[in-house]
Amino acid sequence: MKTQEPEAVRRATCCVIGCGPAGAMLGLMLAREGVDVLVLEKHADFLRDFRGDTLHPSTMEIMDDLGLAEGLLDLEHTKAPRLEARLPGGTVTIADLGRLKTRYPFITFMPQWDFLDYVTGEAERYPGFRLEMNAEAKDLILEDGIVRGVRYVTPEGSREARALLTVAADGRSSPFREQAGLKMVRTSPPIDVLWFRLSRHDGDPEDTFGYAGGGRFMVVINRGEYWQIAYAIRKGEYQSVREAGLAAFRRSVGDTIPDFADRTGELQDWDAVKLLSVQADRLRRWHRPGLLCIGDAAHAMSPVGGVGINLAIADAVAAANILARPLREGRVRSRDLTAVQLRRELPTRAIQAIQSFAQRRVVSSLLGPEGAPSLPAPARALLSLGPVRDLPARIIAFGIWPEHVKRKEPVARKESV
Ligand SMILES: Cc1cc2nc3c(=O)[nH]c(=O)nc-3n(C[C@H](O)[C@H](O)[C@H](O)COP(=O)(O)OP(=O)(O)OC[C@H]3O[C@@H](n4cnc5c(N)ncnc54)[C@H](O)[C@@H]3O)c2cc1C
Repeated sequence: MKTQEPEAVRRATCCVIGCGPAGAMLGLMLAREGVDVLVLEKHADFLRDFRGDTLHPSTMEIMDDLGLAEGLLDLEHTKAPRLEARLPGGTVTIADLGRLKTRYPFITFMPQWDFLDYVTGEAERYPGFRLEMNAEAKDLILEDGIVRGVRYVTPEGSREARALLTVAADGRSSPFREQAGLKMVRTSPPIDVLWFRLSRHDGDPEDTFGYAGGGRFMVVINRGEYWQIAYAIRKGEYQSVREAGLAAFRRSVGDTIPDFADRTGELQDWDAVKLLSVQADRLRRWHRPGLLCIGDAAHAMSPVGGVGINLAIADAVAAANILARPLREGRVRSRDLTAVQLRRELPTRAIQAIQSFAQRRVVSSLLGPEGAPSLPAPARALLSLGPVRDLPARIIAFGIWPEHVKRKEPVARKESV
């Protein structure tokens, strides 16, 4: 006689831990490929502090492949076709995306929670997709050296998710890497970032730009009703910034961006200023039998260039392209998991190398006593040549190896809503 399975066990072909950009996109793509996928998310909703809201052309083209770009752009968003740096000596265009050949020659700024709501809403139209919110994964289930799923807790009690493949998409602090014995390569970025908001006023500029001067570097993002501001500091400088006091911090913001001096009083206490400890690392091996890590869980990215979400989504697309068939056939081999890492590792490492260069050479020097360096004339001439001029825009827009959705028509049929 068949024994009844306990209520607390969920079975799926693929269990995804974490419903951030990587997990949500992987869930959507596997479900449309006809794979039975269970996504576990520890929070009750997607409303979080600012975590990065930049969808680059590479991601918009993926959404286009899925037939979802128009629907996404119907949601409230702002667009940045150009990234500029305002230096004491004048404005320099860092990347002009308008010159690129793409249907989406701009960076789309949209709150991450709206993006995640949209993606999971689309995924829920496929019968194979299940999303469990308030479900915090705790321990991998390891049997004979193979990951068979994960134990997780919910407000109703403990449960097990058993799956042919478990994917850790739970972000930069994922504990499952260590549980699986996967080793990290860590780097030590020289900067940290303070994030805060200031209101936007009538007559403010429309664009998103960097400000440098007086040993300070800030990136200012137009978020409609407010400015989201990233204020770079040297690694380890946070304590001394706090000790100098909020009044000094407000003054330094106003001195760097005089247009904002009238509203720095909105920063009433340090709770309004969040520290992002900049981290950059990557796993040596992204998998072991039964487990794959993607997104920030496989490689935390520096915020330079705002590429983290886009790389996480590219990982999800590559994983779905490569693994959908083995998952449908019920057999995922090590070589399938290796293929995902091989496809994504080189572009990730290349972008990390570029970020590291930018942090050490550009951002660090902007924070130095000399402030913004002026470019020598030959460098200016070189930068004005078409292919060189377009290179930063290309890298920011598409990364090194953009991914596309292999199967344009879904295998699974959408349920009517
Ligand atoms: C302040 C800040 C600003 C940033 N700015 C940008 C930017 O401008 N542009 C950009 O592209 N990137 C930016 N990033 C980086 C970007 O947010 C990440 O690279 C991207 O979100 C990674 O996606 P992910 O899906 O791999 O992981 P995450 O977005 O970290 O998602 C992981 C998900 O897993 C869930 N989770 C965690 N643990 C568990 C668990 N045990 N069980 C179940 N669920 C779990 C989390 O709640 C979360 O929903 C920024 C990051 C920060 C912190």
